[in-house]
Amino acid sequence: MNRTIPAPQYTSIAHDVPTVPATDLATSGTRQLVVQCPRCGELHRHLGLGLRRSPCGQHYVISTPHTAPTLTAA
Ligand SMILES: [Zn+2]
Repeated sequence: MNRTIPAPQYTSIAHDVPTVPATDLATSGTRQLVVQCPRCGELHRHLGLGLRRSPCGQHYVISTPHTAPTLTAA
């Protein structure tokens, strides 16, 4: 018997998931996180930290730098 055992896959996400720093965005009522997408370069908004999927299909992990300035949306 010569079976090939596939590598364990704990998610369906392809290999590398980049970590991107988020900037706080204070909107009226809600607080959102803005990240610059490593895939398309656009700014994407998210509601929380952690593993997210961008509108363009990129997976990344959102982290918050301690010294992030707070932006205010008009
Ligand atoms: Zn994107």
